Amino acid sequence: MTELKIAVVGAGVIGVTTACELQKRFRNANIKIVANEFFEGTTSYVAAGIFCPGTSFSGPTDEITEKWVKDSYYYWENVKDSNEAGTAGVIEISGYMFSSSIPDIVRNSFMEKVCPLYRAATREELKICPGNWKYGSYFTTLVTQSSLYIPWAFNKFKSNGGQIERRKVESLESLAKENDVVVNCTGLGAKFLCKDRKIVPIRGQVIKVRAPWLKNFFYGDYDTYIIPGVDSVTLGGCRQYQSWDLKVNKYDEMQIKEKCERMVPSLARAEVIGSKVGLRPHRETVRVEKEMKNFDGKRVKIVHNYGHGGYGVTTAPGTALHACDLVHELLAGNNKL
Ligand SMILES: Cc1cc2nc3c(=O)[nH]c(=O)nc-3n(C[C@H](O)[C@H](O)[C@H](O)COP(=O)(O)OP(=O)(O)OC[C@H]3O[C@@H](n4cnc5c(N)ncnc54)[C@H](O)[C@@H]3O)c2cc1C
Repeated sequence: MTELKIAVVGAGVIGVTTACELQKRFRNANIKIVANEFFEGTTSYVAAGIFCPGTSFSGPTDEITEKWVKDSYYYWENVKDSNEAGTAGVIEISGYMFSSSIPDIVRNSFMEKVCPLYRAATREELKICPGNWKYGSYFTTLVTQSSLYIPWAFNKFKSNGGQIERRKVESLESLAKENDVVVNCTGLGAKFLCKDRKIVPIRGQVIKVRAPWLKNFFYGDYDTYIIPGVDSVTLGGCRQYQSWDLKVNKYDEMQIKEKCERMVPSLARAEVIGSKVGLRPHRETVRVEKEMKNFDGKRVKIVHNYGHGGYGVTTAPGTALHACDLVHELLAGNNKL
């Protein structure tokens, strides 16, 4: 019997999570991660990692989107409840989302369905942070710190026989010669590999600080967020549509510092670790799809899993499970395309 070979392109949170799930599903397969950037070089390392899908987060249907979110929450919750939670960088955290503009901003139907606790903030709680907060929610969720999770997942992948190759892939089809299926987890790279005009960068900048006394997260208006992780706190942020600029911008840094300190004044004495910039791979509909192409006289089997925007850490497990189903369908010859 010939060995099943699968190539996963991309080593961010989506690629690594998908590769690990493929190993569980196809136990005897030879699985390789191919990428030109690993660890700090990926967008995934910039993320705060809070589980909080935006209300506009979309898969192909509402039903599929809800399934991705639920599957993801349960996946992260299992890691959090395991004895590997510390090394995997997954913690439970509670906190507040405040707004002074409209009540809808502090509601999130995805979160209300999966979180163990999601309720309106009380009048007293609206005064916890300086500012004229009119609406608020208090909820409990999870944070996954990518700088711990990705190395943890990589170690699992390698100890289960997974292979790694560092290189730039010029075309997905070119990998088809040596592989039965190619899984495309290239985030923003898919814009070029798939000539997909629907994927655009949404630039984000954050400041990582040490403030171990902070035990809750806080969200405010104008993209203000303060999110404690395992060993640092992420302060943000901004969302700049179609900006490709990966340099730290000092004006963004100033406004992030000012708005976060206004909301939580004790941050003024936090030790600054540094600023980071990342380009969120935004696509109106996250693409988890199978595709068959003709290349060099061969039928090439591809599964796409990209375009998670600002919610890739949150939804990596749910979309990875879906991508595994599609790989299974392609291999079983169930190719209704
Ligand atoms: C400031 C900021 C804060 C964020 N906060 C959160 C948060 O709190 N919660 C959350 O859920 N999400 C958050 N996100 C979003 C999250 O970071 C992304 O959704 C996620 O990282 C996307 O993961 P990815 O694996 O698709 O992409 P990436 O991490 O960018 O990985 C892409 C991989 O593909 C590889 N690649 C691309 N093209 C090629 C090619 N041609 N050949 C070889 N390899 C290739 C790259 O080298 C890389 O390894 C945040 C993002 C930013 C910028």
